[in-house]
Amino acid sequence: MVLAPLRKFGLPKLGGGVGGKSSAAEMQQAVQILRDYEQSGHGWFWSTDAGGRIDYLSECVAERLGKNRSEVLGQPFSSLFTLDSVDTEQVERTLPVILSKRKTFAEFAVRAAVRGEELWWSISGRPQHDSAGNFAGFRGNGADVTERRRSQRKAERLAMYDSLTGLSNRHRMSSHLDNTLAAFRQAKRSCAVMMLDLDRFKQVNDTLGHPAGDELLKQVADRLSRVVDSGCELGRLGGDEFEVILPDLDDRGRLGEIAKKIIDMVSQPYALEGARCVIGVSVGIAIAPYDGVTSDELIRNADLALYSAKGGGRGQFRFYSTELHNEAETRRRIEEDLRDALSEGQISLNYQPLVCTRTNAVVAMEAVMRWAHPDLGSISPALFIPVAEESNQIAQLGEWALRQACEDASRWPGNVKVSVNVSPAQFANKNLPSLVTQALANSGLPAELLELELTESIFLNDSESTEEMFAALKGVGVRLALDDFGTGYSSLGYLRKAPFDKIKIDQSFIRGVTEPGTRNVAIIKAIVSLAEALDMDTTAEGIEAHDELDLMRELKVSQIQGFIYSKAISGEDALAAMQSGEWIIEPEGPSKARSDRKTVFRKVGLIHEDHRYEVTMRNLSNTGCLIEGLLDVPVDTVFVVDFGEGQLAVATVRRSRGTMQGMEFEHTLVADGAGGLVTRNRVSPYMLAAAGMPLGALPPGQYPLGPQSNGSGTFTMPRFAHLNEAAKKGEVQRAAEAKAAG
Ligand code: C2E
Ligand code: MG
Ligand code: MG
Repeated sequence: MVLAPLRKFGLPKLGGGVGGKSSAAEMQQAVQILRDYEQSGHGWFWSTDAGGRIDYLSECVAERLGKNRSEVLGQPFSSLFTLDSVDTEQVERTLPVILSKRKTFAEFAVRAAVRGEELWWSISGRPQHDSAGNFAGFRGNGADVTERRRSQRKAERLAMYDSLTGLSNRHRMSSHLDNTLAAFRQAKRSCAVMMLDLDRFKQVNDTLGHPAGDELLKQVADRLSRVVDSGCELGRLGGDEFEVILPDLDDRGRLGEIAKKIIDMVSQPYALEGARCVIGVSVGIAIAPYDGVTSDELIRNADLALYSAKGGGRGQFRFYSTELHNEAETRRRIEEDLRDALSEGQISLNYQPLVCTRTNAVVAMEAVMRWAHPDLGSISPALFIPVAEESNQIAQLGEWALRQACEDASRWPGNVKVSVNVSPAQFANKNLPSLVTQALANSGLPAELLELELTESIFLNDSESTEEMFAALKGVGVRLALDDFGTGYSSLGYLRKAPFDKIKIDQSFIRGVTEPGTRNVAIIKAIVSLAEALDMDTTAEGIEAHDELDLMRELKVSQIQGFIYSKAISGEDALAAMQSGEWIIEPEGPSKARSDRKTVFRKVGLIHEDHRYEVTMRNLSNTGCLIEGLLDVPVDTVFVVDFGEGQLAVATVRRSRGTMQGMEFEHTLVADGAGGLVTRNRVSPYMLAAAGMPLGALPPGQYPLGPQSNGSGTFTMPRFAHLNEAAKKGEVQRAAEAKAAG
């Protein structure tokens, strides 16, 4: 019994040969060694007959399987294993296939057929042949590799997850997205991707050090995990970039809310090794299948949306739209052309009056930059200042503005102050106090007539240099104003810490202030009383209507800056207006602030029955729009408004006069993150494809709507006279005649 296996394993036969005695002893010893080996648990032996049935198996293996050796003998060799779990690298080559090939195999990983326990063996085998050369079965050995596999899996895990935050890494996110999209394409399901990039992370890393930066990333990951739903996949792609995959989500209202929540959460202050810091995050969103069907397309478009969100002033979200390609191109152009704009004399300063609320007298003028681009026309500073900041051009532009404003203001009669905007990058430059001193000295402007407007972002890192800079500027004798209060982190705590002379309440805070139920009134009240206690002025920015002005008076805001008094005017006009002594402006504007109705001017499609009309949209709010282009449309007519890119909204005509119709949407539009509006949902390209449109090749908004066609295959006559450019005159004429005729 002991000897049988030895023969199987090719050991010399007993007795019959030279040195029989010592051979027998050697034989015994060899048997003992093999026994010891089998019992050590390091490995075991097996063999089969030509039919693949087990004819030898180490005792320990049978035990591991919970069987007697006698039960196992005669069974097919493959009954020892769970055949469907195959080692990942040998996926196709299942054990029976290998055995049927009758070839040598080595270290093939198989899962043992032990229930309820994960046990892995590595087995090797060699085919055996009889003296006639016929196949006689396999012999081989095996070993337990469960532990090795576990550590291998752990290593694989490490390769899939980010070691700092524990979130999925780029590799895993990318394969997850690939798999999700592939699966969803069949099922026609949607999937959104959000790309996140932290704002100001680099500064924190630079000022507080890398360990603090790492700690910050961990805290960010923590907060994100709390905001992101469990069905979503969250990952860190590297650096300060994160990604969220949100399956089955295409409602842009909901996605906007999630993005907003992410931004709010990430923007709360962090405590890092005793220091306090604040960062922000920008979010770009793309949704499959509308914005792309492959992961490459989707990621590229979410990145483009992210880029646009960053450019829009950070702490914002953006949905991808095809327009962003143009926007990105424009930004590149702006960055390039800005380099020569100053030396080419394209940049100038305009001035907007700040008026005393009680007396209507102009007390100060804010210098705002204007850029007259030779091809693109006038470019807003809201657009080019962020580009200048990002491309390190702000120092030069800012210094020029400072010198020019002091120069201009030195010629103004009386004590009208001049306010100059100072970017955070300028504030971080140690030379700022000496630049200010020079600008004052060169122009002869008294220091107390110069006011520097700083934004809250200068406080985002606690640092001694901030305090030193405040002290130095106060030492020069200029006034300091906190600009755009209410847009960023809005902590009244800053006001106690820094020697400001004025708080400017941002216009985004003013918008809607006259509407019932707003919290902004209470907040403005608090700001004003704190400012009074600290002996500071207050300015309300962006006042356009009388009801807003009345409210600011009631709230005792000390100064007003807004179109109700004046827009920014040229330096010459400003000088001329002041020449005649004290400059009083009578407020002039609408009596009531209009809610967020935006003046737009763009082509949209109107679909009615079988017809699609090109019309101009002149006004848009979340509840309705004003369109121009059709004549005499009856009230209560229902249209489908086609905004392009699969955005369709059902709208009912509520007012109609000549060629203008006021329409109300069935479902309100939602914010697009860029101050614009979009439909919550889009018509899926799948649906359009089903209606005969090729995927991906859709001209924006040129498709028939299934439910709208009359289904009979015949087309009705257009019901409304359409004022397109060419036919405009004749048609109005004809329509008028037809009307007159009855
Ligand atoms: P800001 O410092 O908050 O300037 C006020 C902005 O609000 C100006 O826009 C002004 O035209 C606008 N505004 C004032 N009243 C009203 C109103 O009643 N209604 C509306 N809708 N808008 C009103 P502008 O000139 O486009 O400047 C935008 C921003 O660009 C400025 O915001 C400022 O942050 C930046 N900026 C402008 N010039 C400079 C500069 O020389 N240096 C730096 N660093 N930034 C500048
Ligand atoms: Mg300002
Ligand atoms: Mg402002």
